[in-house]
Amino acid sequence: MLPNKEKPAIQVSAMTGRTAVVTGSTSGIGLGIARALAADGCAIMLNGFGEPDAIERERAELARTFHVEVLYNGANLSQANECERLIEDALARLGHIDILVNNAGIQHVAPVEDFPVDRWDSILAVNLTAAFHTIRKTLPNMRRLGWGRVINIASTHGLVASSGKAAYVAAKHGLVGLTKVVALETAGSGITCNAICPGWVLTPLVERQIEVKAAAEALSCEGATQKLLAEKQPSGSFTTVEQIASLALFLCAEGANNITGTCIPVDGGWLAQ
Ligand code: NAD
Repeated sequence: MLPNKEKPAIQVSAMTGRTAVVTGSTSGIGLGIARALAADGCAIMLNGFGEPDAIERERAELARTFHVEVLYNGANLSQANECERLIEDALARLGHIDILVNNAGIQHVAPVEDFPVDRWDSILAVNLTAAFHTIRKTLPNMRRLGWGRVINIASTHGLVASSGKAAYVAAKHGLVGLTKVVALETAGSGITCNAICPGWVLTPLVERQIEVKAAAEALSCEGATQKLLAEKQPSGSFTTVEQIASLALFLCAEGANNITGTCIPVDGGWLAQ
């Protein structure tokens, strides 16, 4: 091992020269995946909502730390034309797209008969339809390259249901179906398409659910957290964003060339029950 000061500033890895679009990467799992890809030498197009100064600080820090190009596009993925604009902008500024991670997602919990229609529409738009638009706009470029990775961040809720989550479960089951169709249509082309199905990961999306559960069941946040895990995730602990990111990196590696059309749970035993 070289002492730290003698290490080259820029490491060359299998990912050097690759480019990735990661949707919903201003927070949580998407940011974790973007960070892991950048750390491996991949240029990144970030996307997602947030406070502009905070996003710019994150973008600049990633670029500075990992010596890669990091761009940002704030497209609202509930709109078809903005999904298209995101991919067109990434192609124009990065030159090509090797890796597409469809991660942006939102949640709303309510019984189906009370489910607000506008929340249903926006969950289906962001969690499912956006992936259709980004994939259809990216595939021609991947086919030209003869290589590509599409990774859809689905959920255990892409494979089983929970009450109160009609829109989310419908969208994630749809995303798993879309993953399989894209895998079949790209099989043998050098492109793979897979879904990662996390159980509970402690991100802002889940923190909001814990707050609602604590209020509804008169529990402390700690009590609501323990109950949430105990109900679904036998390991009793959250998966970390780094663990999800390391699976995404593996799916981008040559070792995963023949893994396509799969849905890989990272769920502490949730789906084994
Ligand atoms: P998060 O709330 O931390 O991040 C969501 C990201 O999506 C943010 O960057 C947000 O700005 C972005 N986003 C939301 N609406 C958008 C829109 N209209 N256009 C563009 N970007 C938008 O949540 P997270 O937990 O990191 O979730 C990421 C993905 O992982 C989601 O698809 C979620 O369904 C999935 N997932 C999360 C968990 C979990 O336990 N956290 C479990 C299974 C699946």
